[in-house]
Amino acid sequence: DNPDQYRPLTPAELGSRLSTVPAIAGRIGADPARWNVREVGDGNLNLVFIVEGPEGTVIVKQALPYVRLVGDSWPLPLYRAFYENHALVRQAERDPGAVPAVYHFDETQALIVMEFLSPHKILRRKLIDGERVADLGAFLGRFCARTAFRGSELSMKSADKKKDVGLFSGNVEIPAITEALVFTDPYYSAEMNHHTDGLDPVVAGLRGDAKLKARVQRLLMKFASNTETMVHGDLHSGSIMSTDSESKVIDPEFVQYGPMGFDLGMLVANFLMAYFSQPAHRAPTELAGYQDWILSVIDDVLTGFDTEFRHLWATERTGMLYPAALFEDQGQSSEEACLALLADIRADALGFCGIEMHRRTLSLAHNADFEDIQDAALKSRLEARNLAMGAELILMSEALGSAEKLLDLARRYN
Ligand code: ADP
Ligand code: MG
Ligand code: MG
Ligand code: MG
Repeated sequence: DNPDQYRPLTPAELGSRLSTVPAIAGRIGADPARWNVREVGDGNLNLVFIVEGPEGTVIVKQALPYVRLVGDSWPLPLYRAFYENHALVRQAERDPGAVPAVYHFDETQALIVMEFLSPHKILRRKLIDGERVADLGAFLGRFCARTAFRGSELSMKSADKKKDVGLFSGNVEIPAITEALVFTDPYYSAEMNHHTDGLDPVVAGLRGDAKLKARVQRLLMKFASNTETMVHGDLHSGSIMSTDSESKVIDPEFVQYGPMGFDLGMLVANFLMAYFSQPAHRAPTELAGYQDWILSVIDDVLTGFDTEFRHLWATERTGMLYPAALFEDQGQSSEEACLALLADIRADALGFCGIEMHRRTLSLAHNADFEDIQDAALKSRLEARNLAMGAELILMSEALGSAEKLLDLARRYN
């Protein structure tokens, strides 16, 4: 075994290959013969092992050199694990406790050893199963605000931030996936696209709308060119793990510097897709109550984001942007400037939100909220609502300033 060369782990070999890693042995017990290893990766890209020993349990996540969902015909660089590790470290600093703790990183093997979250469950599954999570929206809104603010030049020293932009700009293949699958493929007949029978007219309508496509391209330009802050990059309900009262954010390998509204928009889109898919998953007696709860989570996300962002604006505005020298030191409030910025972030977020709603039903990687629906006619009816609202969000994002307007729109399309 050559430790200088990358080799994917297998459950059978993991013990012998990682028994000398103190971050594992010291936590779960030093005798690998007593480790129980299970591969649990359910994502599109990586190997994930639960490694359970007599004294504890850790997660080992290892990148594969190709897209797991597609196979080795689609290579993907291992270096994304390097960026995921850096992202987890920064997120832990910016929102302590929000992400699993990293215990060990091995660049050659492209693997991260991290905290095992238990009894946490993937949020997407909980939403399909009709389970509620206390404090969910507030936690996520706070996470988005803290990472957006503290990763930007509202807070960071410019030199530090620019250096970090340089570091993360090496992660080129991963943003390219988002640029294609999320922003581009839904709007033409890209090779890997697929959609439910019955949606052809809706899809033709989207592709026939040059104004809509132009707005999507404008948002793609912001995504590809703005380096406002370090974004998670893949903040959907499959990247959140929750108990009934606690949540954590995982899987930031799509990290990049990007627009402040990107994570917020992706997140809201995934709650809206959970909302629109509910008629297929809930008994009629529970449907309205659970859908209302999902909308209340969206409200909490948006409100929580604004509240935390304004708090950080008032207490941690130590960067180059909007300095006190221009406002408070001249006896002027900067509150209006903050509100105007928040309005821009919200408008961007709702645009990204609409695009995410489109790509999850039209492009390569769909989500279980809709994919688990067996009744094809019902599935296409619910997906059509989701697509229509997505289009309205892209076209009308500036006009939907308040959370209440957004929720009303969702109720109208439901
Ligand atoms: P991918 O990048 O391939 O999507 P993820 O990081 O999303 O990989 O992990 C895949 C799955 O592994 C998750 O859906 C979850 O079930 C499990 N998992 C990942 N990280 C943890 C963790 N820290 N604790 C417990 N389970 C985890
Ligand atoms: Mg994942
Ligand atoms: Mg996953
Ligand atoms: Mg991932």
